[in-house]
Amino acid sequence: MSTQRRALVTGGSRGIGASVALRLAQDGMDVAFCYRSEKERAEETAERIRELGVRCFHAPCDVADFEAVQSFIKEAEADLGPIDTLVNSAGIVRDNPLVLMPVEDWDAVIDASLTGVFNFCRSLAFGFMKRKRGVIVNVSSVAGVYGNKAQTNYSAAKAGINGMSKALAKELAPYGLRVNVVAPGFIETDMTAGLTDKVRAQAMELVPMRRFGTPEDVAELVSFLVSDRAGYITGQILQVDGGIVL
Ligand code: NAP
Repeated sequence: MSTQRRALVTGGSRGIGASVALRLAQDGMDVAFCYRSEKERAEETAERIRELGVRCFHAPCDVADFEAVQSFIKEAEADLGPIDTLVNSAGIVRDNPLVLMPVEDWDAVIDASLTGVFNFCRSLAFGFMKRKRGVIVNVSSVAGVYGNKAQTNYSAAKAGINGMSKALAKELAPYGLRVNVVAPGFIETDMTAGLTDKVRAQAMELVPMRRFGTPEDVAELVSFLVSDRAGYITGQILQVDGGIVL
């Protein structure tokens, strides 16, 4: 069997997903990634991945749509070969206090941020089991551990990822497969770029290291967790958050 590793990263066009895709490419993996609509950002990321000398497949795919996910995986595997590394990073926020939250914003966040993770795990896990080769990292959030006000939808989705990942880790461990969660704190990406100065200052008060993290801070841990160096680590939720306590 070829020793070439092949990673699939959801939400790889920008932010944490793009950093993870690039980091795994630096590690020598071929990389497939999906995104929602930012085609230009996706092409830029794909170009940077290919410059590292590995292959890259990328295409738009709504992670919330199970059939679209299955088609995306089929095309990615036809191009690169069987995927052995899955990193679920795609996610969205639609913040509002619960009493003001439109039902569609609840649904949108659960669909993209939680059901999307199920869709990719559900579509790839059987192949991983058959080949006894595969590793999964799901990107959650400290909001899923502590809860965050105005983010009941997001906190529920991320807590769902945490529970799902622990359960799946138990199901897959007998096949030699590992599942872990990376839970970032405040990270400098488009997702946090819109925070007002006031909210940003309040957030910073919660971070003992007194800075937001970088996408690379998160990618470094993902790189470790998907590698054989982490061969006895599974079912864990690891926070990359500068020591935050919400
Ligand atoms: P981001 O910069 O907003 O990027 C989000 C990525 O997800 C983009 O690639 C986007 O595609 C993709 N995406 C969103 N909805 C999708 C869908 N339905 N189908 C396919 N792709 C979709 O976000 P980020 O800050 O990098 O966040 C990445 C992950 O880390 C998320 O799960 C987020 O919840 C988590 N996280 C972030 C922070 C933070 O402070 N930034 C903290 C904790 C956890 P397009 O580019 O096409 O829109």
